[in-house]
Amino acid sequence: MVKDRRGRGLTDLRISLTDRCNLRCTYCMPKEVFGPDYEFLRKSEWLTFRELDDLVEAFVQLGVRKIRLTGGEPLLRSGINKYIYGLKHIHKIEDIALTTNGLRLAERAGELKAAGLDRVTVSLDALDAEIAGQMNGRGIAPRAVLAGIAAAQHEGFHVKVNMVVERGVNDGEILPMARYFKERGITLRFIEFMDVGNHNGWKMDRVVSGQEILEKIQSEFAAEPIDLSSQGEVAKRYRYADGSAEFGLITSVTQPFCRGCTRARISADGKLYTCLFASTGLDLKAYLRADDYDSAKLLQFLSSHWVQRDDRYSELRTQGGTDRKKIEMSYIGG
Ligand code: SAM
Ligand code: SF4
Ligand code: SF4
Repeated sequence: MVKDRRGRGLTDLRISLTDRCNLRCTYCMPKEVFGPDYEFLRKSEWLTFRELDDLVEAFVQLGVRKIRLTGGEPLLRSGINKYIYGLKHIHKIEDIALTTNGLRLAERAGELKAAGLDRVTVSLDALDAEIAGQMNGRGIAPRAVLAGIAAAQHEGFHVKVNMVVERGVNDGEILPMARYFKERGITLRFIEFMDVGNHNGWKMDRVVSGQEILEKIQSEFAAEPIDLSSQGEVAKRYRYADGSAEFGLITSVTQPFCRGCTRARISADGKLYTCLFASTGLDLKAYLRADDYDSAKLLQFLSSHWVQRDDRYSELRTQGGTDRKKIEMSYIGG
């Protein structure tokens, strides 16, 4: 397996299928910036599924076993079912996951299951309609997302829910969300509000630390830590003592996990990013569309790029010097 300069392999690939979205979450795509004049990628700039197939083939040879489809909102990309089918049955990817805002999941869960999708992560920040509506920037109450989660569970998916916690906004929802998903045996993962992109007004004092979240949960429920299940696992996992469910803490701000970061990310227009907080990516589309494209050379090109990798933004954040322009979360997909 290929290793980077810090000895980290390459096991996970995140593919962004579009930079567009039907929500405008305040921490990701604030509507004041991502308004009617915002210039999204043109569809002709997106990698085609065939081009993505060539890339996946190469990444598998470098060690990738897990693929996560994301965006923007990945369910807005047409043809996604067929693409998942190919990943599962032609490329034999062991683990295919999808991160979605869940708005369209209720009507799509069955076809995604039939296509071969293994896992679904749904993002939801509050049960309270007003808070959820404010955070998703569109005033949309959580009813449709909750129906999507239930539908996915009904199809037999192992569903996880991601909740970004922002102080003074939805920290009062930590316990209601914990209770709701515990009761349903669904893993809820609390994500520390991150300084991704350039527009979400991030400040350290708006971050609720994983430790604080844990204490809040333990004020009501007994819970114990679980060992990390796999290399590259980013969430600290806990189990409720009554065995009803698990929950996770994603502490990328207060307890960074760069040392175990074995992920590569591809934007919808085919740029390779080896860190969520990168400023620039490697243009793979130009390579894939060149007249002298050659799969062996692509493999060599990707491998030599990974070997050079030295990213560890989250470890450096608190030391300063990290205030350069970064890529947007909606562009790279989290
Ligand atoms: N639209 C899909 C969704 O929301 O699940 C997929 C893309 S979204 C960019 C992927 C994940 O990034 C979501 O779980 C979202 O909550 C998370 N995210 C976005 N901005 C964030 C931020 N500033 N801090 C922490 N997590 C963030
Ligand atoms: Fe869209 Fe997901 Fe970003 Fe929210 S977090 S704006 S749903 S891409
Ligand atoms: Fe990986 Fe970059 Fe996040 Fe560190 S900051 S865990 S290197 S994506």
